[in-house]
Amino acid sequence: RQWWDRVRPAPKDPITSVSRAFLADASPNKINLGVGAYRDEEGKPVVLRCVKNAEAKVAGSEFLESISASANSRLVEESVKLVYGKDANVIGEGRLAGVQTLSGTGACRLFAEFQRRFYPRSKIYFPDPTWSNHHSIWKDAEVPQSTFSHYDPKSKGLNFPALVDDIKNAPDGSFFLLHPCAHNPTGVDPTEEEWREISYHLKVKNHFPFFDMAYQGFSSGDLDRDAQAIRTFLQDGHLIGCAQSFAKNMGLYGHRVGCLSLLCTDTEQAVAVKSQLQQIARAMYGSPPIRGVLLVSTILGDPDTKALWVEELRAMVNRICKIREALRESLEKLGSPLNWEHITNQVGMFCFSGITPQQTEQLQRKFHIYMTADGRISMAGVTMSNMDYLANAIHEVTK
Ligand code: PMP
Repeated sequence: RQWWDRVRPAPKDPITSVSRAFLADASPNKINLGVGAYRDEEGKPVVLRCVKNAEAKVAGSEFLESISASANSRLVEESVKLVYGKDANVIGEGRLAGVQTLSGTGACRLFAEFQRRFYPRSKIYFPDPTWSNHHSIWKDAEVPQSTFSHYDPKSKGLNFPALVDDIKNAPDGSFFLLHPCAHNPTGVDPTEEEWREISYHLKVKNHFPFFDMAYQGFSSGDLDRDAQAIRTFLQDGHLIGCAQSFAKNMGLYGHRVGCLSLLCTDTEQAVAVKSQLQQIARAMYGSPPIRGVLLVSTILGDPDTKALWVEELRAMVNRICKIREALRESLEKLGSPLNWEHITNQVGMFCFSGITPQQTEQLQRKFHIYMTADGRISMAGVTMSNMDYLANAIHEVTK
């Protein structure tokens, strides 16, 4: 029998195929603006000093199996403080069911599975657009999905009235996936007032808010401010789900450290929910590797190392903000007839530039500049040294 004869290649992933094309390009001028990974002023990946400190502290301890359970619970304990606030009542009341996950993707996948088990017929609504993997994750979990309005191509900002209408029009008791800060791919976040209204309308409709927080700190440079949307929902009495990733804000990408937490009505419910999440995880992959967990729980658990992390996170965000200003200025100086204000209005790792698929193709072919076809620019890939070349290329293809 020819076992795998009928297997055809899977469709290409929009982000990894950009990286592959970039690697194959021999031009010395090439720029990768595809993958959302932080780069320093020289365009190099960064290992944060807080991570190096934590590595020194945990050296040699990763083989001690007895530490694994305590490191996991420490990770969850510290992670939920970042989301709900360090003094949040719900933490003391034992209302959170939290488990360590395989980064943000694993947290989403685990929740999708949980959702299907307990609400098999409820849909999940994603913002339009969203991180493309959201669609794949919930599809694989066989949860029906739909979208709600988010981005307005005309203003390159939020289409708030349409967003609210879509919340109102979804069947009562639907699941809504929300990016609490630094929306990927658009860089467009609701204001605090808009979040209050979103929270209100979700409550009226009995929808469940699921926050995918992959970039805490990257919107404002401040961890608490970036969690404000979730805190608003908390005040409004919602039950909440939250996926957290330490890939970007600690630069731990390949270590795959994350947390999934569900806010429950009381401790009894939290214990039940947690045991179900653990059972699903156990059958899928057991548990995530311990090394990254030790690093994150060490950073969050030690006040000095945590302070260093906060400082380094702010420095990453500051560099991206400066780069946003410089890119906008460069395009304006070149006399671009287009409005580029959205480069500085949008926040986080990405700029949803408005560059069309045809223009991104030209950027790649003529200038060796790589980005996803939707025109999303990973701002961390821009440096003061490639700025002029990039601005000029964008101007050439958009004028
Ligand atoms: N959610 C969103 C919105 C993301 O952009 C990402 C990273 N691209 C993730 C989740 C998951 O990332 P990771 O699994 O690397 O933590």
